[in-house]
Amino acid sequence: MVCKYMKIVGLCLCLSLLISNFCGCGRQDEPIQLNSGVSDETIDAISRGNSKDSETKEESKSETKEKPEGINVAETRGSKQPIPQEIRQKMKGISMPEGATVTFDDLSYLTIPHYDYNGKIVKGHMVVSVEIADEVLDIFEELLEIKFPIEKMELVDYYTQYIDETFNNLDRASMSQNNTSAFYYRVVNGTNTISNHAYGRAIDINPKINPYYVPATGYVSPANAYQYASRNQDLPGIIRHGDPIYEIFISRGWEWGGDWSGEKDYQHFQKPPR
Ligand SMILES: [Zn+2]
Repeated sequence: MVCKYMKIVGLCLCLSLLISNFCGCGRQDEPIQLNSGVSDETIDAISRGNSKDSETKEESKSETKEKPEGINVAETRGSKQPIPQEIRQKMKGISMPEGATVTFDDLSYLTIPHYDYNGKIVKGHMVVSVEIADEVLDIFEELLEIKFPIEKMELVDYYTQYIDETFNNLDRASMSQNNTSAFYYRVVNGTNTISNHAYGRAIDINPKINPYYVPATGYVSPANAYQYASRNQDLPGIIRHGDPIYEIFISRGWEWGGDWSGEKDYQHFQKPPR
């Protein structure tokens, strides 16, 4: 009975719509649902990288959405391997200079799936200390779960082309491109102290939008990041005290440069050797 009744109502509705269109009496200002061309998934992934609220909504969508391109969605954990020969050749004389006290055997080459700024899962690479390789994979697996967006993740050795008068060393060149990286045998900029990056025990994440900043002088590095010294902006991939990404690192005993007094290194997490 109900079905029959519904059919009649449906038929009447169709007819009335047809008639109103023919008469030209449909309301011109009625909103029409059209595909805007920008997927909600993309916007969600970018704008809510710092929010755990996104999980529920995303999970409910996952029944109908297609798998992200280029990766099996079940493959959320990265992998580690000894530094491949071709990568060693690339690093020699750049991130691994002559006279480095760290050897390739002290390091691990990671392949890490992560969300990029277009809401897609892509694979990046990072070199870290072999001692913390598994922990770093744990961390980035969690960052993938919360859909934290990372614009680029490649070794600093691929950024020599960006060294110029403004970005006058390789670290600044890589930062200027918002490239996330870890190992680089070097001193802390402006000092003689060996950086934790030299041991593969520090990671800089989205370094352009999470710059190094000295409040007392107003100095910002990289030099194209002055607009990001203000931390009240809701940017994809921004790192702030108490954010989910902050908790993921801190709960494992890492330090965050944004917690330092005097100078702020918002991109920088480190776990010095004990
Ligand atoms: Zn750093």
